[in-house]
Amino acid sequence: MSESLVPGVAVELAPGVRRLIAPNPGMMTGPGTNTYLVGQGEVAVIDPGPALESHVEAIVAAAGAPIRWILVTHTHRDHSPAARMLAAETGAEMLGQVAPAGPHQDDTFSPDRALGDGDALATKEFVLRALHTPGHASNHLCYLLAGQELLFTGDHIMNGSTVVIDPPDGSMRQYLDSLRRLRRESVAAILPGHGDVLREPKAVIDWIVDHRLQREAKVVEKLARHADSPLRELVAQVYDEVDSRLHQLAQRSLLAHLLKLEEEGRAMRDGERWRLI
Ligand SMILES: [Zn+2]
Repeated sequence: MSESLVPGVAVELAPGVRRLIAPNPGMMTGPGTNTYLVGQGEVAVIDPGPALESHVEAIVAAAGAPIRWILVTHTHRDHSPAARMLAAETGAEMLGQVAPAGPHQDDTFSPDRALGDGDALATKEFVLRALHTPGHASNHLCYLLAGQELLFTGDHIMNGSTVVIDPPDGSMRQYLDSLRRLRRESVAAILPGHGDVLREPKAVIDWIVDHRLQREAKVVEKLARHADSPLRELVAQVYDEVDSRLHQLAQRSLLAHLLKLEEEGRAMRDGERWRLI
């Protein structure tokens, strides 16, 4: 692990942009959730992270100036629960989208200002523009810092692990559409919700789209040979190179691929069994 990825140590990544990693490392979170601080005179916090008192204190200490805004990329529990705590302490305004119903959601997050696609937070120092990027989560927003063209991607693009697409809130079709949409933006670097900065945005996005489409091609290939297979059998075929202990998780991604094919009229199901059309 590089020193810059140590939890609790604020690192300046660009003028007026700092990263502070929450102390919640794990299989799904990598070194921990990245909390970003934007601005120097007045600070915006992006993704304050899980509800950990120590992390909230570290954010306030690192800011070194009034925290006026708290933006969240989405409402999974490793990204938004500290927003309420930080807002209570600083009086900052909370921005983002409300949590949809469902498991793994932080329903304590309630934005003072709901942001839609293209909405911006404009301050004296900087402008952050929200881009609605459903796929990993239906209420997912990326934030583009104007001028420096830094893109905060939350869990839409991570560094070091594959993004989980868990239906029904997650959608593979929307995920790929959102990636293609981001590719059309002018972006200098990607600042992900987990892991280090990604310096070649277009190459990164191309790789992810490619990787997903390769998996989709494998789904189609295996489905052609094993028609009417239930998910739990198909997963071993499609993810045959993946450790079988991860197949339970992979089954969610497989379902996401199948639902995309269904939406496109390329596959259908009979109960739990899937086949190509
Ligand atoms: Zn997430």
